[in-house]
Amino acid sequence: MDKNKMSRREAIRAMMLAGAGLAAGSSLAAAPLRAAGVLPQNRKFTEPAKGDQVIHRTWPSLGGESISLLGMGCMRFPRKGTGRRAPLDQEAINQMIDYALEHGINYFDTAPAYGDSERATGEALSRHPRKDYLIATKLSNFTNAELGACKEMFANSLKNLRTTYVDYFLLHSIGSVEDFKKRFVDNGLLPYLQEQRKKGVIRHLGFSFHGSNAAMKELLAMPYNWEFVQIQMNYVDWKNMPLEDSDEPCDAETLYKMLEAKGIPVVIMEPIRGGALANVSDGLKGKLAERFPQLSPAGVALTFASTPKGVMCTLSGMSNMQQLMENVYTFSHFKPFTEADNAYMMEMARLYNGNPHIPCTACRYCMPCPRGVDIPGVFAVYNGMSDALMLPDPNGKKDKAYKEKRKEFLKRYATLAKDTDASACVMCNACLPKCPQRIRIPDQMRMIHKLVKDLG
Ligand code: SF4
Ligand code: SF4
Repeated sequence: MDKNKMSRREAIRAMMLAGAGLAAGSSLAAAPLRAAGVLPQNRKFTEPAKGDQVIHRTWPSLGGESISLLGMGCMRFPRKGTGRRAPLDQEAINQMIDYALEHGINYFDTAPAYGDSERATGEALSRHPRKDYLIATKLSNFTNAELGACKEMFANSLKNLRTTYVDYFLLHSIGSVEDFKKRFVDNGLLPYLQEQRKKGVIRHLGFSFHGSNAAMKELLAMPYNWEFVQIQMNYVDWKNMPLEDSDEPCDAETLYKMLEAKGIPVVIMEPIRGGALANVSDGLKGKLAERFPQLSPAGVALTFASTPKGVMCTLSGMSNMQQLMENVYTFSHFKPFTEADNAYMMEMARLYNGNPHIPCTACRYCMPCPRGVDIPGVFAVYNGMSDALMLPDPNGKKDKAYKEKRKEFLKRYATLAKDTDASACVMCNACLPKCPQRIRIPDQMRMIHKLVKDLG
């Protein structure tokens, strides 16, 4: 190894000792990380300065709890190697969680459905005093809602997280009232969870939601004491968040306002739409930079989502130290948007929507496909082209840019591994119920396969 370069481990140790470099937050802190390859060499970003702390909001309805407006989503932790099956990189996770705590982040969100995340989160957090952090986890009873299995899942969460109580416990991903009843009411689970709340094993009980406006209204009318609710919210979904398996109206503004009217603190998920709003087209990037020169596209999206006063915590699923640092910077210099800023963002949403986009967040709940289709991979190719305003239209062959767009699309599509593209889909529908974004995956596969054929 080059003598002048630190090993990754050395860099991490240097950072910890310097408590340092990073707690002191000097811009020098990034140097050893960059040298060790923990931070990219070639991309500049604004690093948090000395002593920067993310802002908190306090919640009287939650016993006056002070919660960081930025929460760490623990679904996309770094891995050792590529691919979904690669093991999580515990050393890197420890480093990220230490840094997060040092900079005031105290809300950590995980779930049994996120693979090995609960265990890794528990291992990293349990190196710190329990009073310094809040754990949010969920009941991901998608495939087995039988009471015994649900109780076992809850017990495993406590064990994996190395704790005797959960601060924020969510019924995971409710899609409709029927779904709610089937998974949490008819099986007798809710009384059990409420009993856990009485005992203090669950401190606060809420749910995460991926359904229609009408379903939310019905859920909120039921006599349950929901202490917080997690919804998807970002500037693109604010006015219109079409559900893939239903024509019922849904938009983040209505969902948020229903919760605000009831005084229920709101946790935000997908503020960057699974990363898509961090990687917007160059045209959109330029428009965002014109108005918000101090913020990255991700910072703009996070600020939009965190501006409403009823937002308790905005979750960002960070996969590396750089994303964490950028987010800490955004939330330690947090300036809520004005009404004029929000109006500007609606114009940005219109531009974004002008290019069809499949709302895949790359969560991979739909995988594996029994026929080997790389579902998120296929959608990533399609979305990458549409986000860059490069989607070729086979009916617009006279368009001057058609040839270039066609060539680029087919080049990217060819990067998918053999037999994993949309042509392998046999429309079996096995993936349909697993997608929280309600994407009609088989229909979209057919649409993309037809596009590829039409491009010739
Ligand atoms: S519908 Fe297509 S993509 Fe979905 S599981 Fe079946 S073969 Fe795979
Ligand atoms: S298609 Fe749905 S379930 Fe699959 S990765 Fe995308 S958002 Fe997740």
